[in-house]
Amino acid sequence: RFISFEGPEGSGKSTQAGRLAAWLRARGASVTLTREPGGTLLGQEIRSWLLHREEPMGEEAEFLLYSADRAEHLRTIVRPALAEGAFVISDRFVDSSYAYQGYGRGLDLDWLRAVSAGILRGVLPSLTFLLDLPPERGLARLAGRDRLEGESLEFHRRVREGYRSLARSEPERFVVLDAELPADELENRITREVISRWPS
Ligand code: C5P
Repeated sequence: RFISFEGPEGSGKSTQAGRLAAWLRARGASVTLTREPGGTLLGQEIRSWLLHREEPMGEEAEFLLYSADRAEHLRTIVRPALAEGAFVISDRFVDSSYAYQGYGRGLDLDWLRAVSAGILRGVLPSLTFLLDLPPERGLARLAGRDRLEGESLEFHRRVREGYRSLARSEPERFVVLDAELPADELENRITREVISRWPS
């Protein structure tokens, strides 16, 4: 019962992750709502490091920091909650690394997958909502939020295309939604999908 939300900044994925958690709880389900980067204490440090760094960082180090966050996130939050039978809803997970550090920064995807396999050890969301949005639109929705500044539109375009090709390669896991739909409509589609996968 592991669900992730992916998409660019400004796509509304955090809002939808929160709404899905509230909706499931209202139906009596036990839910752990979490996020990457930053779901753990170490993750919060890494998140502020990565997002507010003064000096440029190599993309390998960047990927490994996200991976360190993910390893701690899995160890302290995701695995224990799944073991208790809770729904785990994560705002970003490993697909963010494939999209941003792989497609966006150009790191070798096979290397990212190999390192990630050692960290995930079989834990992967069974359902991933991709809130798809053209980068021009996402960036316009964002003024002053906690984000990686200064990346080019080209970078964000590669990230978007990366996400879309990840979704095409795993159509049974990914549900791609148009992030520009009204929030209520998105919530409806998301909850309907969840009901169809977990009817009770
Ligand atoms: O959308 P959210 O607040 O989770 O993202 C925080 C920032 O981290 C965004 O600027 C996103 O581009 C960046 N990020 C990244 N690589 C990841 C995960 C997030 O560049 N693997």
